[in-house]
Amino acid sequence: MTKQANLEKVTAQIKQSCEKSNRQQADVTLVAVTKTIDVAGITELYDLGIRHFGENRADVFLDKTRELADKDDICWHYIGSLQTRKVKDVLPEIDYLHSLDRSSLAKEIEKRATKPIKCFLQVNISGEESKHGFSKEEALSFLQEADFNFIEIIGLMTMAPITNSDKELHHVFHELKQLQQEIHALQLKNVPCTELSMGMTNDYGIAITEGATFIRVGRALVSDDNMEV
Ligand SMILES: *Cc1c(COP(=O)(O)O)cnc(C)c1O
Repeated sequence: MTKQANLEKVTAQIKQSCEKSNRQQADVTLVAVTKTIDVAGITELYDLGIRHFGENRADVFLDKTRELADKDDICWHYIGSLQTRKVKDVLPEIDYLHSLDRSSLAKEIEKRATKPIKCFLQVNISGEESKHGFSKEEALSFLQEADFNFIEIIGLMTMAPITNSDKELHHVFHELKQLQQEIHALQLKNVPCTELSMGMTNDYGIAITEGATFIRVGRALVSDDNMEV
């Protein structure tokens, strides 16, 4: 499949999931995860109209943002675990950080930032040990004790477990939404928490029906073969 065909398929799925859940398509931002493709591939997606791109490794992210600097309407999303020592370099290039996954990272961002930084707090809903992020309880206590000057917690992010169970996926995404609403209601300083970053190639349709406002889609968009996704 070409990237254009991929995009058409993903867009149709987004539309269908929005209709199913009475949501507006405009309320769901598609972030193309381009960690497995090069600048030429990103440019192809750009030419098809995509403006939101996600990367997960600091060095590659910096190379790509530098090479694509002339396309200044690109919105860059950093979605991977971010090492503290890389914060200083990548921060100026990040439009959205989806992976605020520990308090030491928040501390470093507050120290280095010179402008507001839109962040998603990463929450490990499924409780899998391999996954990064705050537990629900940790997320609540961390945000209640925080006093951000630069970090703006615009929402929550999670990675669903790899499973064939739609029921389990619905449950994980629903839990994230519940927590988002709970935190939003607290009206904490710099914590509007209105957004939900959830849903990847395997599960973005379900994530949308559960309220995702940002979906992070890689394989379904970037693959050039006939991989069934
Ligand atoms: C790779 C990645 C994605 C995209 O995953 P696909 O299955 O390729 O859609 C989304 N979010 C994060 C954090 C990732 O690392």
